[in-house]
Amino acid sequence: MRLLIPGPVTTQAAVRAAAALDYAPWDNDFRNLIARLRGRLLALAGGRPGEHTALILQGCGHFALEAACRTLVPPDARILLLKTGQYADRFERLAQEIGRTVIGLPIPDDRPADPAELHAALAADETLSHVALIYSETSTGLVHDVPALAAMAGSLGRRVLVDAVSAFGALPVDIGALPMVDAVVSTTNKCLEGLPGASVTVARTDRLEAAAGRAGSWSLDLHDLYRHQLHAPGVFRFTPAAGVLVALDVALGLLEEEGGPRARLARYAANLNALYDGVQRLGLRPYLPRAVQGPIVMNVHAPGDPAWDLQLFVDALKRRGTLISNFHNTLRPSFRIGCIGAVTPDDMRDAVDAMGAALTEMRVANREAA
Ligand SMILES: *Cc1c(COP(=O)(O)O)cnc(C)c1O
Repeated sequence: MRLLIPGPVTTQAAVRAAAALDYAPWDNDFRNLIARLRGRLLALAGGRPGEHTALILQGCGHFALEAACRTLVPPDARILLLKTGQYADRFERLAQEIGRTVIGLPIPDDRPADPAELHAALAADETLSHVALIYSETSTGLVHDVPALAAMAGSLGRRVLVDAVSAFGALPVDIGALPMVDAVVSTTNKCLEGLPGASVTVARTDRLEAAAGRAGSWSLDLHDLYRHQLHAPGVFRFTPAAGVLVALDVALGLLEEEGGPRARLARYAANLNALYDGVQRLGLRPYLPRAVQGPIVMNVHAPGDPAWDLQLFVDALKRRGTLISNFHNTLRPSFRIGCIGAVTPDDMRDAVDAMGAALTEMRVANREAA
């Protein structure tokens, strides 16, 4: 089955095979693998050894986002959150649930955020100490210019947290060039093309050092995790998803072989192009104009035909070997297709053919937006 969802993604057989063995997390071979893996992740994020560190935490992206927020954002901080879509909403809930104050800056869902609007919001309110950015907003498919937005926040003396969960591994991340960024958070199973089950945070060591006792949690305390790693490199505090991490190491090797994030981004962009063209040929209407459509996930307006039914469409595609999400998270009804994972433009063309066949089978004649 070909997964065309924005995580977990289709993976290569070698990645899955690595997880099909038993590992003892406290074994010296495993410890060495983790120590090396953290070094690879740090380099991938442009982190500077000593100034930054890569931390691996059990659990998916939300766990690492919460851990970063608990550890790196003081309770009296005021976070300006760019409200770019549903993943920004999730960050807001996550931060509020742990007692952090979030002020939302609404961003329209049909264009990337403009650094000038961030400047205006920060200039108008001195009390805003932090800025939270979603790099690739997985609900809309828009990619926001995190390097430019972070630099703007930094020029006004603000600290920055980046949710790069659907970006890291493909979109450029260079935390070494962005000293105002305290942490970049990601997961193993999106653009890194590993399996789900663990998360990656690349953070500033000075900020981690300064965060003793702040998290209000032991399991989600990145300060504690950092201290533990200094003292016992490659050893986890609690049982890790060991197979997932060995698989991630294999996935990072494949990323290097492909030519790194730049080459991966080019493949995802080619995937998107094949999909965007194909969807239009079927008479369907893309949710976003091509000029602002990001390369990670694409939303397509649900057809206006009364025969349209998302679950039936998903089932019909599944019978043809492609799995897509059976929900939408846009304002108007849509369906979404992921362009990430171990898939190529040929896979996207096959998926478009399957969509055409499914729509014909369902007798969806009117394909204009509902
Ligand atoms: C996938 C995703 C997350 C985290 O999702 P998990 O299911 O917790 O891994 C967070 N932010 C963005 C932008 C995402 O795409």
